[in-house]
Amino acid sequence: MGAPDGLADALDALLAGTAPADRLAADPLHLLARYTAHEDIALAAVFVSALSFGRVAAFLPVASAVLDVADAHGGPAAYLRGWTPDRGDGLLPLQHRWVRGVDLALLAGALARAEAAQPLGARVVAAWRPDEADLGPALDRVILTLRGAAVDEARARAERAGEAAPAGWSALPRGLRSLLCRPAEGSACKRWCMFLRWMVRLPDPQGGGVDLGLWPLPASALVIPLDTHVHRLAGYLGLTTRGDGSFRTAQEITAALRRLRPDDPLRWDFALAHHGISGACTGEVSPRRCDPCALRLQCANRRAAAGDGLAGPPDRTERG
Ligand code: SF4
Repeated sequence: MGAPDGLADALDALLAGTAPADRLAADPLHLLARYTAHEDIALAAVFVSALSFGRVAAFLPVASAVLDVADAHGGPAAYLRGWTPDRGDGLLPLQHRWVRGVDLALLAGALARAEAAQPLGARVVAAWRPDEADLGPALDRVILTLRGAAVDEARARAERAGEAAPAGWSALPRGLRSLLCRPAEGSACKRWCMFLRWMVRLPDPQGGGVDLGLWPLPASALVIPLDTHVHRLAGYLGLTTRGDGSFRTAQEITAALRRLRPDDPLRWDFALAHHGISGACTGEVSPRRCDPCALRLQCANRRAAAGDGLAGPPDRTERG
C-alpha cells in the first residue's frame, strides 16, 4: 500500500508540535535519568519498559520502586551481580495490574542469570543478523534465552521454599509470561520494541529526545512499539489495513514508515502515540479536533467522515 502524499511532512509537523520537554516528561524513560553507567541504564530500562502499560500514574510509582530496590544494592547492575533468589524478595510487595512481585523477582533472576553469561547489550548485538529485515528475530532469540533463565530461577525459588519445581516455561506465572513475550508467537511485544527503541535510536538533535542510542545497532532495523493509539492512527494514514495487534502488523506499519524514512522509521513513533494518549485524537471527527491536526489532509478517517468515499480505518482490538 502507498502512504498518502505529503505524509512525511505532516508527521514532521506533528512531531514539531510536541514540545521536547513534554516529550521527555511524558515518557517513562525519564526514570532512567538517575543512572550514568550504560549497564545500569539498560537493565533499569528492561524493568521500566516492562511495566509501561496502563495508566502512567499507576505504573510510574511501581517502576520507580523497582529501581529503588535495585539502588539499595548499588544500582541495577550491582543488584543482579552475585544474584541469589533472596535478592528478589524485595520486589515481592510490588504489583502493577497482572504483573505481581514474584513475576518481577523471576524477571530479575532471569536477567541476572543471563547477564552472568553475557551482558544484555552484547547479547542483543550478537543476536542481530544484518540479513534479517528487522530486529524481531534477534529479539526473539534473546527472549528465548531469558525464558530458559526464568525457568532456572523459578526452580531455584521453589527449591528454596521446599516446593515442587515448575515443570517448564508454560508452568510459570502468567504475569511473567506476559513480560517475556515472543515475536515468533505473534505478540506485538510493544514494551520490548520500546525498550529497543530507547537503547538503539539516537536522541533527537534538537534536544529533548526520548531515546538514548547506547547500542551499536541500526535504527533502520527497529520495529514500532504497537499500541492501540499507534495502530488506530496507522490505519487512518494508510500504513496498515491489518486489524490485529500482532508483530506482523507492527512490521507492516514499520515497513511503510521505513519507505518514508529509511534510516529512521521510528522517528514519528512517539508523536503518533502521544497524539492518541494526550486525547488530541480520539477518533471523533470534528472541526475542534481535526482542523488543528497536522495529519488532517492525510487522514482517511476525517476524509471518510467528510463523505469523499475513502474507506475508514480497519476494526482493531486493544492489546498489551
Ligand atoms: S484529522 Fe481528526 S481523526 Fe484524523 S488524526 Fe487528526 S484528529 Fe484524528
